[in-house]
Amino acid sequence: MSMAYQPGSDDPSPSLHFACTSCGKCCTGLRLPLSVSEAITWLERGGRVEILCDAAPDMPFPEGSAEAYRAARAVPAISDQLPLTLSATLTAVFEGPCPNLQADMRCGAYEIRPNACRIYPAEVRPDRRVVPTEKLCPSDAWDDAHPTFMEPAQGVLDMETANAITRSRHAGIDDVGRKAGLLAALHIDQAALANEGYAIWKPSLDTLLDRLRAVRDAQDGTAPDRLYVEILSPRAETRQMIAEAQGVDAVPDSTRGYDYLPLYG
Ligand code: SF4
Ligand code: SF4
Repeated sequence: MSMAYQPGSDDPSPSLHFACTSCGKCCTGLRLPLSVSEAITWLERGGRVEILCDAAPDMPFPEGSAEAYRAARAVPAISDQLPLTLSATLTAVFEGPCPNLQADMRCGAYEIRPNACRIYPAEVRPDRRVVPTEKLCPSDAWDDAHPTFMEPAQGVLDMETANAITRSRHAGIDDVGRKAGLLAALHIDQAALANEGYAIWKPSLDTLLDRLRAVRDAQDGTAPDRLYVEILSPRAETRQMIAEAQGVDAVPDSTRGYDYLPLYG
């Protein structure tokens, strides 16, 4: 028996029903994660793309964990003696409504919209549960009268959403070599410590599009086996920990072409 979502409950029901109400809330003021090919399309249509970078020690993680998912999609890196994985998330950025959002709240780029748009309000990462109270969708989008969206044992039942999740997960792995080439070409050599913040690199959009096309079209890898990276932190105790682990630490420096975004105050 399926159960309707109860607004206000923090515990997701065993079965979720969903239909998009076209409220447009998920198309406003966002960072949309993009694959390399999606970033090229976004830039070619005049959009803005930035690169969120963080680094974590390169070590084995339990299968199915968030750390293992991240590491599989990150670029191998090195900071002095400390092996790292460098995550570089290409993101479409817009303040206010998405440039593709039309007055009637429909998507003006529906056929070529990024996978992230096709997936919401589901989750790409297998370790994340869909919790309606954490989503932007209004409560009537989760009405029991709507088609079954997901079941605990089967995951997402809506085929278009499920296919977009599969494509996005594969693209994250397929893009690792391209991102290594991109980071090398853009001389990106500093990243925040994972779970502490992000370095948001902002290359000029023309340069970024040019380099993205180059790595898309490259037949051979153009990056070293491990990219050199310094680990950023505004916290002295974190920098000391990095140095003790034989990595190279650095204080965030906005003159280098990135903003530092802390995850905690
Ligand atoms: S591309 Fe379309 S679906 Fe995605 S955020 Fe923009 S308007 Fe919304
Ligand atoms: S927030 Fe939810 S209901 Fe509103 S447009 Fe986005 S997916 Fe649809």
